[in-house]
Amino acid sequence: MGTIIDVKSLSIDFETKNGIVKAVENVNFKINKKEIFALVGESGCGKSTIALSLIRLLAKNGTITSGSINFKGKDVLNLSNKEMFKFRGKDIGMIFQNPLDSLNPVMKVGEQVSESLLLDKITKKEAWKKVIEIFEDVKIPDAKQRIESYPFELSGGMRQRVMISMMISRKPELLIADEPTTALDVTIQAQILKIIKRLKDDFNLSILLITHNFGVVAEIADKVGVMYAGNLVEIGNVYEIFERPLHPYTKLLMKALPTISKKQGRLVTIPGIVPSLINPPEGCRFADRCPRKMNVCKRIKPKLKKYQEGHYYYCHLEMG
Ligand code: SF4
Repeated sequence: MGTIIDVKSLSIDFETKNGIVKAVENVNFKINKKEIFALVGESGCGKSTIALSLIRLLAKNGTITSGSINFKGKDVLNLSNKEMFKFRGKDIGMIFQNPLDSLNPVMKVGEQVSESLLLDKITKKEAWKKVIEIFEDVKIPDAKQRIESYPFELSGGMRQRVMISMMISRKPELLIADEPTTALDVTIQAQILKIIKRLKDDFNLSILLITHNFGVVAEIADKVGVMYAGNLVEIGNVYEIFERPLHPYTKLLMKALPTISKKQGRLVTIPGIVPSLINPPEGCRFADRCPRKMNVCKRIKPKLKKYQEGHYYYCHLEMG
């Protein structure tokens, strides 16, 4: 499996009136062809910021201060604005939590999807036919009628299907899905996840899934990266992470998951609060909340350690 995107030592700052927020620090990961990589963590941990940086859509006060993003040999951080315009959508597509924010409220959904197809210089009639095919692909019922609908006439699940259609119409190689099911009820959530999983095979897509929900991760991810306060703390194959979490934060997150197979009392919570990222701790950012912290933890940043091929963690503890 070849690598689609290779992110190395990525750090991102935001300038705010209270000071510089060190939102992402020294993050490394690769996504392979036809792989679903889930970046998971609490809100504010930096996962959406990383996603936006891959297509250079950070807010104006955000700066990539170091690192590199390599997409199939292209140095993304050095593409011109014109090249970036083509790159977004064509190489990397993105869907968000709330499709209403991205859809034009006064334009029929069929027209919105066909707009991107027309960029390939096909006739309007051909584009319209293609939209119906894509709508059927993502299981929009009565596709021929639905293309005439406006976004407000569709349910949340249908709108998300329209957004997915819009993205796959450009045939990107990497799809970023930022909390794609968070606003949906459980049944629709399962249907959308099924569609995303199928797209991986039907369109040879690689997917970066941003989520705070380990249930969603278990459902579709191949590989998982766990984020805490702007740092990636553990990365590994999905079975490894669920079976053998190594980092104390990942372990606590796993304990906090509800299960239906065993009797469970109160759910475990992680005491303490996430540190301020304006003056983040010098050493491990999890130290104040970590039940296993040692003297070294507050002073020195943990380096990447290999547990086994494909399973890595950042912690001073020795595992294995
Ligand atoms: Fe805990 Fe230290 Fe590991 Fe951080 S480096 S997670 S404080 S043991």
